[in-house]
Amino acid sequence: MTNSYGSDSMSQLYDRALESLVGGVNSPVRADPRPTPAFIDHGDGAHVVDTDGNRYLDYIMGYGPLLLGHDMPEPVRKAVTETITDGPMYGVPTEVEVELAEFVIDHVDSVDRLRFVNSGTEATAAVARLARGYTGRDKIVVMQGGYHGGHESFLVDGDVDEREPSSAGVPPAFAKETVPVPFNDEDAIRDVFKRHGSEIAAVLTEPVLGNHGIVLPVEGYHETLRDLCDNYGSLLIFDEVITGFRVGGLQCAQGKYDIDPDLTTFAKVIGGGFPVGAIGGRAEIMQAFTPTGDVFESGTFNGHPVTMVAGLETLRFAKDHDIYMHVNDLGERLRAGLQDIVEEHAPEYTVAGTDSMFKLLFTRDEPETMADHCSAGCTQRPDCPRFELCPKTGADVAAGKTDQWKRIFWPAMVDQDVLLTPNQFESQFVSYVHTKDDIDRTLEAYQTVLSRSN
Ligand SMILES: *Cc1c(COP(=O)(O)O)cnc(C)c1O
Repeated sequence: MTNSYGSDSMSQLYDRALESLVGGVNSPVRADPRPTPAFIDHGDGAHVVDTDGNRYLDYIMGYGPLLLGHDMPEPVRKAVTETITDGPMYGVPTEVEVELAEFVIDHVDSVDRLRFVNSGTEATAAVARLARGYTGRDKIVVMQGGYHGGHESFLVDGDVDEREPSSAGVPPAFAKETVPVPFNDEDAIRDVFKRHGSEIAAVLTEPVLGNHGIVLPVEGYHETLRDLCDNYGSLLIFDEVITGFRVGGLQCAQGKYDIDPDLTTFAKVIGGGFPVGAIGGRAEIMQAFTPTGDVFESGTFNGHPVTMVAGLETLRFAKDHDIYMHVNDLGERLRAGLQDIVEEHAPEYTVAGTDSMFKLLFTRDEPETMADHCSAGCTQRPDCPRFELCPKTGADVAAGKTDQWKRIFWPAMVDQDVLLTPNQFESQFVSYVHTKDDIDRTLEAYQTVLSRSN
């Protein structure tokens, strides 16, 4: 197999990349794999083929956007190609951005206005400004282990008492206004509101933590957030960049959990594999954005026609082809199979995920009994024998065997031709083009690797 650009081997390519790109990559998580990242030549359904010709069953799936797999289905490909042929972009409105907005509004209850931007990071940066501008307050409460992109407001670590920027270059003043609390901890969020309620513009959370293992909400947690925000005049913002149009299908995770946030950020799936972000919510709040309001937001590439058509046709295809039933069934089959393997070979580990998201968390403590566990991934069921042991927060996930996961388990799965996200924290995704056979082969790979190391 030769790649389209030249005949360098992967190690030669990485050697060149280290001299031309910072750390050899354009996003730091891509540098994780040892000894070198795989340079991908092309995608093929549920597989990727690297520039050395190795073929892997892929569960990275672009870190979430590729709900339909690597090949655009014919109607998506046709619409995207036609749009590109017409000319890439205009800087002037087009019909397709209205249509994608209407599609989202039709399917997501809490949204009646949208603004499209170009990445999840842009969406959360803009939503922070919007929440602050609309409420006239500065503090935003976030979850420890939550991820909302790489910008000043959310690169913050710590807790209500002490916090600091998590990156060099972020002024400490930002950390003052961003208050991390442990996910799923009702006492902690009540305490923050008691101490700072009148200063809190918003609570921002992923409905399911998807960037620090996968952690589902315990029963009642989202309702508590909703009530506290209502009582204190703060906004509830769901970051559905991963979960949007994946968890809960077209109604998104907020539909699945039956919670109406005031504002929602989207990205990943709604761009059909092209760069995208969006902010959506109640009209009254959304109109605070320019040009109708005074919260500045603008972008040359906002509502890019190629992205808009890819997103629209992807979502239409998902709607017309029962995509969510297919990917969720496969997700369930995979998690249930993993649960069986774990019970036999690694009872201390936790199977996590929901819908088409999954991860095996290398937690450390074995439950007393293996009977009556959540059968297809931890759902935070209080009467599960593992309930006290399964991760409730990002910190619980980080307390697992993260080095074993990354240095021993991940490469062993690569040897089985299964490509997982290269650390314990990033979610993995099943797509429309994965098959039952793919899932069964994946389970065999887990079985082989886990029976060897335990
Ligand atoms: C990926 C992600 C982001 C950032 O999106 P980018 O498009 O990578 O900037 C923000 N929030 C969540 C929940 C994400 O998963």
